[in-house]
Amino acid sequence: MDILARYFDGVRPVAQAVTLRRVAAGLEIVLPDGRAPILWPYAEARIDALTPEVQLHRVRQNLDTGERLIASAEAFQREFGSMLASFGRGRAGEAGAMRIALWCALAVASLAFLFFVGLPVLARVAAPMVPWRWEAALGRSVEPQVLEYFSKEKDKPIAFCGGEASAGTAALQAMVSRLSAGANLPAPVRVDVLDTPMTNAFALPGGRIFIFRPIIDKAMSPDEVAGVLAHEIGHVVHRDAMRGLIHNGALSLLIGAVLGDITGGSTIAILSKMMLGSAYSRETESEADRVSVDLMRRAGADPRAINDFFRRISPLGNATPTIFDALSSHPVTSERIAAVEALAAAIPKGGKPILEAQEWAALKAICAQTVKPAKEAP
Ligand SMILES: [Zn+2]
Repeated sequence: MDILARYFDGVRPVAQAVTLRRVAAGLEIVLPDGRAPILWPYAEARIDALTPEVQLHRVRQNLDTGERLIASAEAFQREFGSMLASFGRGRAGEAGAMRIALWCALAVASLAFLFFVGLPVLARVAAPMVPWRWEAALGRSVEPQVLEYFSKEKDKPIAFCGGEASAGTAALQAMVSRLSAGANLPAPVRVDVLDTPMTNAFALPGGRIFIFRPIIDKAMSPDEVAGVLAHEIGHVVHRDAMRGLIHNGALSLLIGAVLGDITGGSTIAILSKMMLGSAYSRETESEADRVSVDLMRRAGADPRAINDFFRRISPLGNATPTIFDALSSHPVTSERIAAVEALAAAIPKGGKPILEAQEWAALKAICAQTVKPAKEAP
C-alpha cells in the first residue's frame, strides 16, 4: 500500500507531496508529474524519529545527501514495521548528534558575537569614513520614500509646515542657526516641520532633520523645541543615522545570507523603522543628549528645557512606543532626565530664551500654512 509523505530533495527548501512504496531493495519515492521514482536502499535510509511523524534522511557513501522524508507514523509502521532493522540508524542514535549540536551552538554564538559586538564596532569605525557628500546624497535619495512611509500612517501625503516666506519658517531657521553655531557640522543641517500627528523627531543621513508637528504644539517654550532639535543635531554630528544604517544594513544582509534570502530587508524599511526610534542604543541617545546640553549652553539657553518637555509628553516610567526617538525605545526616561540634569548642573538656570517672543509665536503657528513636499534639496 502506498503511503503519502513529504519529500525534500536537498536542493530546494520546499516539500513535495510524494507517495512511498515498499520494494525489495528499499523504499521507493514516487514523485508527482510522472518523474522517475527515486529508490532509497534501506541502508541509505536513516530514521531520525518515529514519532510523532516518521522522519528520515538519506546518507550515501557516508555523506548526507540533504534529502528528507516525513511520513505519518501509523502508515509507516504498517508498511515498513517489519523492515525497521534494515534501515540505517538516524540522528537519534548517532554519536554525531552531539557534535552537530555543538557545532550549531558554536555557529549561533559566533553570529551573536558578530551581531552584538562586531557590527556596532564596524558601524562606529566605518560611518565616519563615508564622505559627507555621499551621506547627504543617500539622505536625499531616501527622503521621499521615508516621508511616504510616514504618510502611509494617515492615508494622505505628508505636508511640510510653513513655506519659503513664512514667519514660522524664518523663526525655525533662526533657531537652527543659533544652535548650529556651536556645533561642529560638516555642512548646515536642513530642518522642516512635518504636519503629522505622531510626536516624533528624527535626523536622516546627511543632516536632514524632521520635527513632527506635535513637538511644536506640545512645547511650552522655544527652548523645549530647541532641546529636541539640538538632540537631533547631536545625531547628525555623531553620524548616527549612517552608523545605524551600516549596522542594520549589514545585519539584514547577514540574516539574509543565513536564511538564504539576500534580498530581504530593504534600506527604506530599515531606515524608517530606525527613524521611529527603535534602533538607537541607550549610549547613542545619551551622546545625543550630551550634544543637546552643549549646544543649548553655547546658545545661551537653558539645556534643562528638554527635560520639561520629556516630563510633559511622557509621565515618568511610562514611556510609550509612539513617543519620539529620544524616548521610544528605552524605559530609562528618568535616568536620562537625571543625566541631563547632571550635565547641566554647572550651567545657570533660566538663560536667555533661544527665540524672541514674536519669533516663538510665529513658530507656534508654523503649521497654519502647509506645503506639499515638492521641495528638492539644494
Ligand atoms: Zn535620539
